[in-house]
This record gives sequence, structure tokens and C-alpha cells, in this order.
Amino acid sequence: MAGHRRAGGLSRLRAAARLATTLLVACALAACSAWPLGTSIPTRWQPSANFDQRRPTLVVIHYTGSETAADALRTLTTATPAVSAHYLIVRDGSIVQLVDERARAWHAGESRWGASFDVNSDSIGIELDNDGRTPYPQAQIDALLALLADLQRRYRLPAAAFVGHADVAPWRKVDPGPLFPWRTLAASGFGQWCDPPYPEPPPDFDFALGLRAIGYDTRQLDSTWAAFRLHYAPDETAAEPSERERALVYCLSGLASSP
Ligand SMILES: [Zn+2]
Repeated sequence: MAGHRRAGGLSRLRAAARLATTLLVACALAACSAWPLGTSIPTRWQPSANFDQRRPTLVVIHYTGSETAADALRTLTTATPAVSAHYLIVRDGSIVQLVDERARAWHAGESRWGASFDVNSDSIGIELDNDGRTPYPQAQIDALLALLADLQRRYRLPAAAFVGHADVAPWRKVDPGPLFPWRTLAASGFGQWCDPPYPEPPPDFDFALGLRAIGYDTRQLDSTWAAFRLHYAPDETAAEPSERERALVYCLSGLASSP
């Protein structure tokens, strides 16, 4: 058995070496866009047996903004405009996988969330077939909940790992929009949530600091506040953050429970 394991290990090493050679040849022949296997400075290769695949730490939910699923599929699978997602969920609840979960799909663009400056590298992207004006059908939300549960189980994701595109790119995105049922998701453990009565923030509570503690990028505070409102209080219309929004930010930030 040990001999077999060694032979298996050797064959895996040979396969890895073949892959590296193939990539190097491909890189030599064309502009190389493959993710580097390692540094190009001189090193000695001594492989360890102790590793597994990197795991996504976020799930980003989008709407396609397309009129039909066929339009969205065309956009998400053709070379131009160079966008994709790991999954597309059609209005009837059927799920199409477009990108291997181990690969970096191009769905978040320039985005930030918490310490993540490369959301595409850190996340699974899910597109919902929706034009941005129509309520999400229950069959589509049921399929989303099933997919999220599967991702949560396999990657051991906390509730806070589930966010919207507008949350991670508030200065340029609004999806999945005001009609997306965040409360329903939160009831199943996907996405942070707070229900009243909210803890009362102190008089000197810093609204922007609270948003940053949740994960938001606040370099453009007005758009960040708009994205927060879209997610947590889409019925608010006040020109300034309302008392409820301040209390919500305080609750969601975790600062309320800090010593
Ligand atoms: Zn999006």
C-alpha cells in the first residue's frame, strides 16, 4: 500500500510538472494571463502533502438586469463584455452553473468588503435572472435558498458572508435591488439582520464608522448609505440617516455588544 501511495504521489507530481510545463509553453507562445503557480525567482521545489483548495469567504448576489435568461446567458458566457458568475438562477427556479467554483468568476468588478480588496478572488457570484423592476418569483428564491444552504455547508460560511453587489460596490451598483427579499434570506441564516427593538446608539455614535464595521467601504459615504438603505431599510425616504437607520447600523456593526 505504501508503494502504491508513493507511486500515486509520484504520478501526481509528474502530472503537476506536466501542467506547469504546458502553462510555461503556453505563456511563452502568447501573452500569459494564467495565475502564476509560484514565484519566478530561483527557488527549490519541495512539495508538501498538507494543503487543500482555497475557500471562498463571501457570496455575492446580483440581478442580471436582462429582459430574459437567454439574454443574460449570452452576456455571461461570451467573451465580450467579459463578465461571468458561478451560477445563474432562472425565474422558474432552474440553476445554471457557468464557472467552476474553484475558479475566479468576473462578477463583482471593482469592489470592496471588509478586508477584501479583490472580491472576485474571495467570493462565489450568483446572478438572478431579473430585470431590476419585477418582484422575484418564489420558485427563484427557493432555488437560491437551496444553493446558499449548500454553499454555506460546504464552505462553512457565517451569515455575514452573504452580501449583495450594491453592498460591495455601492458607488456604482444597486443590484439585487429594493425588491430583493433580504429579510427572508436572513430568516434562513444568510446575511446579517437586526429586528426591533434596536439598541440605542450613543449620542456620539459615528455612522460611517458603524458602516465600516459592518464591512462597507465608506470612501463615498452617500452612496454607501444608499446601498445600506437599499438592503436594510428600502422604505426610508428621509434626506438624512433616520434614527432607525442609525440604530440599525449600530446593531449590525456589533459595536453595541462591544465591551
Ligand atoms: Zn451585479
